[in-house]
Amino acid sequence: MKTGYCYDELFLRHTYPGHPESASRLEAIMAGLKESGLHGRLHPIAAAPATQAEIARVHTPSYIDQVKRMAERGGGHLDPDTYVNAHSYDAAVLAAGGLLALTRAVLEGQLDNGFALVRPPGHHAVSDRGMGFCLFNNVAIAARDALARPDVSRVMIVDFDVHHGNGTQDAFADEPDVLFFSTHQYPHYPGSGWLSEIGVGEGEGTVVNVPLPPGTGDSGFSQVLEQVIWPLARRFDPQFMLVSAGFDAHWTDPLAMLGLSLAGYAHIARELVAMAAESCQGRVVFTLEGGYHLQVLAYGVRNAFHALLGEQTVSDPIGPSPHPERPIGPWLAEVMQAHHLDLQ
Ligand SMILES: [Zn+2]
Repeated sequence: MKTGYCYDELFLRHTYPGHPESASRLEAIMAGLKESGLHGRLHPIAAAPATQAEIARVHTPSYIDQVKRMAERGGGHLDPDTYVNAHSYDAAVLAAGGLLALTRAVLEGQLDNGFALVRPPGHHAVSDRGMGFCLFNNVAIAARDALARPDVSRVMIVDFDVHHGNGTQDAFADEPDVLFFSTHQYPHYPGSGWLSEIGVGEGEGTVVNVPLPPGTGDSGFSQVLEQVIWPLARRFDPQFMLVSAGFDAHWTDPLAMLGLSLAGYAHIARELVAMAAESCQGRVVFTLEGGYHLQVLAYGVRNAFHALLGEQTVSDPIGPSPHPERPIGPWLAEVMQAHHLDLQ
């Protein structure tokens, strides 16, 4: 497999003292890739800043301008959680551009697949507002770009961050050509993502939310893959897949209470790679969202790269959650009913 990544030191300059969404996240990931020897086996793709027009496919010009001006003034806050410093606008534009570059490299056949190691993250950002540590919605901008190509008319986005990808859902809720799938702890930040949110108008049925109770872990996620994601992918038949990869559903994450292990995360990555192989010639690009335990990030991304390379290697020095897992049968039955999926 020819697997690519995108990284730039500018992503480190968007950081804020004491904030969990800090430069140390990407530093831990890059150190892990080098230590494992994976770094030399992956193809680097240079990021170029996304243009105003590319970002404006998802965000309003006035919001883009607001972030730019805030950075020019030295920084500020878009909400109590979401900081902007003097470098944030440039980093955010480059993060969006990095995922765009990787997406294009895969769709143009230079790479089989890839993982954008970018910051700031994007999946909470809505058209006219940044929130939840997110400035511009990288994954939505990349999906729009993919759909502008004549050979791509259906894109599937899988969001396994512990938080609901509200911004991505908002961007495509009324569009039948994007299937947005999200697993997330519920109730939890940002409050949306209940299973009755299934899309609107022509997009009805192409938003799929699997809200999960605290404690859901590896076996719950395996059930979701088997019973919901696989059948949905087969029915929707995407031509390209994007993955909002958040590592904050790990049982040690300081911001949430789901129970995935690193082995569970690796299983998800392998399954998504297999799904892409079956439906879209393997064309899948992961992009970094959340995850605030540095060792989990480092190993989670390493394992995802092994999956992208088609390898079974899994490193899990932390081990499984010591807490018993809650059964998710009732939740799953409701999701399947809402989306007309048969019990397998
Ligand atoms: Zn998150």
